[in-house]
Amino acid sequence: MKLRILVIEDDLSLGHFMQTVLEANGYQVITAQNGKLGYALITSYCPDAVILDLGLPDMDGMQLISQLREWSEIPVIVVSGRTRERDKVEALDAGADDYITKPFGTAELMARLRTALRHTGRGGSAKTSSTGGLLRVGGLTVDQERHIVAVDGEEVHLTQNEYKIVLLLARYAGRVLTYDFMKRELWGPMATDGNQILRVHMANIRRKIEKNPAEPQYIFTEIGVGYRMAETD
Ligand code: CA
Repeated sequence: MKLRILVIEDDLSLGHFMQTVLEANGYQVITAQNGKLGYALITSYCPDAVILDLGLPDMDGMQLISQLREWSEIPVIVVSGRTRERDKVEALDAGADDYITKPFGTAELMARLRTALRHTGRGGSAKTSSTGGLLRVGGLTVDQERHIVAVDGEEVHLTQNEYKIVLLLARYAGRVLTYDFMKRELWGPMATDGNQILRVHMANIRRKIEKNPAEPQYIFTEIGVGYRMAETD
């Protein structure tokens, strides 16, 4: 059974290109050139994921995400020409699962889509935690029952906050988490403003888990947006 992907994109040639790539990768694809039709198709066609352009002729894609998130957790990947950090943060915080800046490579699009589908919307976290056990990202493991992080089999001594940060990123491995999302998840809605505390923790974590903290292989910085852990296999 093929997974169904809805592509909402008013640029016909780009829409066609994505359709071709997706179909070549075994997905069933339907396209819409405006937000109204796209929204209607989400309800009638029940896609497994949506690829969404933000600059649509009849509405802003951001509006569509907000409306959709009131009742659906279907994965949404934003594909946009808007490159400002603020746009990425807004889209992710509004409920987009990922954000790709145009122009982009097909390998990148496919990888992000697979990640989003694997996490099936925002339920990813609960699903991983309920199974307990080990989360694995290359040589890095997080033992959720014993609260132990190891790299290449060697236990890494983390503070409680550092452990919480690594665990959160590992649960959403492959996905970019915004600073605000992380602070809320880690320390609750009353978490203080400013991202400095996260940066300090991250610097310490990297010193402990990365071979070369300047060229991380586990936790990547999305400048001005947040952090992303490498994809789990
Ligand atoms: Ca557009």
